[in-house]
Amino acid sequence: MKKNDVVTVEVTDIGIGGEGIGKVDGYTLFIKDAVIGDTVEVKVMKAKKNYGYARLMRIVKESAFRVSARCPEARRCGGCQIQEMDYRKQLEFKNTKVRNNLIRLGSVEEELLDQIMEPIAGMEEPFRYRNKAQFPIGVDKEGNLIAGFYAGRTHDIIANTECILGVEQNREILEIILQYMKENCVAAYDEKSGKGLIRHVLIRYGFTTKEIMVCLVINGTKLPKADRLIKKLTQLEGMTSITLSPNTRRDNVIMGNSYEVLWGQGFITDYIGNVKYQISPLSFYQVNPVQTEKLYGLALEYADLKGTETVWDLYCGIGTISLFLAQKAKQVYGVEIVPQAIEDAKNNAKINEINNAAFYVGKAEEVLPDYYEEYAKTHGGEKARADVIVVDPPRKGCDETLLETIVKMEPEKVVYVSCDSATLARDLKYLCE
Ligand code: SAH
Repeated sequence: MKKNDVVTVEVTDIGIGGEGIGKVDGYTLFIKDAVIGDTVEVKVMKAKKNYGYARLMRIVKESAFRVSARCPEARRCGGCQIQEMDYRKQLEFKNTKVRNNLIRLGSVEEELLDQIMEPIAGMEEPFRYRNKAQFPIGVDKEGNLIAGFYAGRTHDIIANTECILGVEQNREILEIILQYMKENCVAAYDEKSGKGLIRHVLIRYGFTTKEIMVCLVINGTKLPKADRLIKKLTQLEGMTSITLSPNTRRDNVIMGNSYEVLWGQGFITDYIGNVKYQISPLSFYQVNPVQTEKLYGLALEYADLKGTETVWDLYCGIGTISLFLAQKAKQVYGVEIVPQAIEDAKNNAKINEINNAAFYVGKAEEVLPDYYEEYAKTHGGEKARADVIVVDPPRKGCDETLLETIVKMEPEKVVYVSCDSATLARDLKYLCE
């Protein structure tokens, strides 16, 4: 197989990024946008010795799992990978991915896994569920201001203000901002030159409270004629918080290190179950409120609290899981690296009148080991213990120093909430050993 070859192939598997996989005489092709079960005509774009990458040219025979994409930009946009796959098949794909990682990287025995692995908990309607979106701002080839999402693997912006994973309100907010920029000659940031002002627009929407937050990430400290923008944005129902986050760095991190309130308050409020949370622009908050309630419900169920327990919630963000657990535990300690999130967490405990939760700023892999050592020193060598430890790390998983301390603290249970099953499997292997 060589570059530019055109072949017809049956898609027989799904790759880890959701791409279709097919074989031609033993040679493996990875085909973006091809769905398992499709027969497709493809053009080879890159050919290695045993495998290659091909572009989907034509669908010869449609898979039974193929659905039409709801978003016209689904293929070009880097946001969605498997929108043309039936949602039930998507769930099966995710389930298999977790299962395989646990077996291959976690050394969990297949037989055991069959007994303990529960069915995947999907959504009823997997659209319009996101409470947060970060839109890069830029210009198209004709020089028109645009907002949208990055294309796959590049920072080319695909103009799209109507992403169907997000709330409908996003469109009007973005249109107001683009209009304001045009009328007042406010330039979009250009990554290549490092010039221009508006980099990203972060929008958050409280599903239960209907409150809206808009945060402009800017390459500078001041927004010219801000009052004109504020006047328009505040006409929208639910507008609660308008902020600026200065970011003059030239890396890929979207948000700046701080924010400034332009109008209203610096946060919106939302509920998960009966717990109320205040969320500020720099804090992490789960993006799918419907699934979050299921997730935290399961974490609580697995923790199986009776009311006498000491619980640690590591990587606690704004204290979401901590406060959920505090309702059923004796004492909860939360640890989180972002100082603004810990401020939110403390405040959230207060507004919910929860008095048995304490929060610490710092790296989980430093705070917990330090606590463990300090405890022994001040308690005549006695070991610090915990009944339940919850972790919810970012994709890279937990640091080994943390896992080591968790083991030393001999908790009855560890509840591991993960957003990457590969690092989950790696960490579980360590914990089990
Ligand atoms: N449990 C929370 C947050 C989970 S996201 C929730 O469900 O809302 C993971 C969090 O870990 C983020 O808030 C991130 O800021 C934080 N974090 C990342 N690295 C960390 C580290 N080394 N120590 C502690 N917290 C960390």
